[in-house]
Amino acid sequence: SAAHYDAIILGAGAAGLMAALTAGQRGRRVLLVDHADEPGKKILISGGGRCNFTNIHTAADRYISENPHFARSAFARYTPADFIGMVNRHGIAWHEKTLGQLFCDGSARQIVDMLMAECRDGGVTYAFGQSVSTVDHADGLYRVTIDGRDHHGPALILATGGLSIPKMGATGFAFEIARKFGLQVVQTRPALVPFTLGEDEALFRSLSGVSTDVVTHWGKTAFREAALFTHKGLSGPAMLQISSYWQHRTPIAVNFMPEEGADWLVEEKRNRPRAAFRSALARRLPERLAEALGSRLGLEGELSGMKDADLRKAQQQLARWPFNPNGTEGYAKAEVTAGGVSTRALNQKTMAAAKVPGLHAIGEAVDVTGWLGGYNFQWAWASGRAAGEAV
Ligand code: FAD
Repeated sequence: SAAHYDAIILGAGAAGLMAALTAGQRGRRVLLVDHADEPGKKILISGGGRCNFTNIHTAADRYISENPHFARSAFARYTPADFIGMVNRHGIAWHEKTLGQLFCDGSARQIVDMLMAECRDGGVTYAFGQSVSTVDHADGLYRVTIDGRDHHGPALILATGGLSIPKMGATGFAFEIARKFGLQVVQTRPALVPFTLGEDEALFRSLSGVSTDVVTHWGKTAFREAALFTHKGLSGPAMLQISSYWQHRTPIAVNFMPEEGADWLVEEKRNRPRAAFRSALARRLPERLAEALGSRLGLEGELSGMKDADLRKAQQQLARWPFNPNGTEGYAKAEVTAGGVSTRALNQKTMAAAKVPGLHAIGEAVDVTGWLGGYNFQWAWASGRAAGEAV
């Protein structure tokens, strides 16, 4: 005989846990399912083990989606302050690192423990370490078969996340189920992911380990953060951020001298005429990078021997250095998946599919992808809350 629940939640990550504790505490009978043997594995490794659990600057314009307004309602009803309130009630110490990013002082494990304690308060039933074989819908009930046992209920919440880090158990299950029920899925792609550079830019790959503050540009979008050269290409927050916007076969532009004006090199020439061009660059940039850029610019020797016009031109190039990534490191290294269940199919207050009664999608599985810096968890919390309140 099948066990009956008010809501069955597939995926015990950030979004699924929030939906489960919310619905459970409202008195709903909730089954929370995950094929992993423990919940919240991505929370545990997030933020370098300290979980960047929210960003105080959360706003819908810091998310990428076909419908940039979709997330507004959920963010208005569950704010970073709401999540901080829960963290504080559990006595978890935290700090702001930079750019509004909040981290645990201790460990990400505290966030998972907190969510699990809240689920316990809500009387949530778990089925972890078990795989879902079938999901059907008939007579107003979803029937989910897990390791040969049937469970049913009028509401099904898809919270199995995206395709990022398959070796941690990420699957396209939410997309599969969404498609099966006729929901559109926006083409997915790796986001917050390092770029790879080809042979033509091998010079920069040889700078592996060098990091510097830059502004990355793609179209009208720009991020001022650190960039890191790797043996495969370009990483660091400034690169990960711009990667979410990037389209294949287009260049990104990097400003290596965000602080310096158009005449900075000309002024260096006035002040230090005997200095070599590379050493002038090295006053602002890591030495190995200064060397590589100097050799690419073809400017050798003392500043005094160079024309002001050439120095201004070099300054311009340094402020808008084009890179043509030949790809990214893909889902294996992507922090998130962009695209996913189309927001067009969903109600922004309840995350329910308009045309499929009782079916909801939340978290990374939905076509809402945040910037780096705690934004993705805030979307998981807010969308999880919205669904948990609706079932
Ligand atoms: P997930 O947390 O991925 O949860 C999905 C769950 O579904 C998993 O438990 C998985 O086991 C389960 N599942 C998958 N397929 C199936 C299936 N077929 N059957 C049953 N269960 C299934 N975001 C931030 O905001 N701050 C950070 O500091 C941060 N750091 C990150 C660091 C790394 C290395 C990575 C990879 C991501 C990081 N992110 C961070 C992004 C963030 O982890 C995700 O956006 C967030 O976890 C999404 O929550 P979710 O609940 O939608 O999906």
